[in-house]
Formats: sequence, structure tokens, C-alpha cells
Amino acid sequence: MKIECRRIGKTPIEFTLEKEEIRFFGSIVFQKGSLFYVNGHIEGHFNAPCDICAEPFDTILNEVIEILVSDGMYKGMDEALDVVEMTDSVVDMETIFHSEIELIKCDYRRCPDCDNITVNH
Ligand SMILES: [Zn+2]
Repeated sequence: MKIECRRIGKTPIEFTLEKEEIRFFGSIVFQKGSLFYVNGHIEGHFNAPCDICAEPFDTILNEVIEILVSDGMYKGMDEALDVVEMTDSVVDMETIFHSEIELIKCDYRRCPDCDNITVNH
């Protein structure tokens, strides 16, 4: 799903994307200057191996995603949220979705069994 920056105004534009068992939904609205505010949720689950015992297990996702999207290079530094830069004056929601999932999957993951061992140490 691609949204042209000039179409994004003060009325939020809603989006919903799905990939495998994961859903990314929310809205994007004009913030100021060349910045747009994305308020979204990632919900669902994915199955991947534990970092300790390598047993695959299911992770339930329920993440709030709050980011700013910049139309072109962002030069400021004072934003409280992460700023994602877009080229061509188009916001590509797929790209945002993909990078957020990669971030979540790159996190250190422990299955409930290994998590218990460490906690009780
Ligand atoms: Zn484990």
C-alpha cells in the first residue's frame, strides 16, 4: 500500500496490511512541515526458534507502532519518535511494515522454558 504524501492531510488515512499471520493497521496523518505521524498496531503471531534452545515457539505480537514519516531527507533532530525517510513523496506502508517486523524478529528471543530458567537464576 502506497500513499502519496500530498494526499495526507489533517484527516487521518487508515491502512491495514497483512503478511503471513501478522496484521499492521492504524492511520497516518499530517503532522507539520514534511512530517507525517503514523499511529499503528502490529498484531498476530509468528513462529521462530528460541535463541537458547533452538526450539521453535510461537510469539504473540501486540505492539504499538508510533513513528514519524518524513517526505524526503529529515534534517531536524528534536523529534521524540523515530523518523523514517521516504523518497519520491510516497509513503510505502509495506516498507514500514517490513522493517518493523524485522526489528521485532531480530529481538533476542527466549521460549517460555528458557525464560523461566533465567528469571529463577
Ligand atoms: Zn528455549
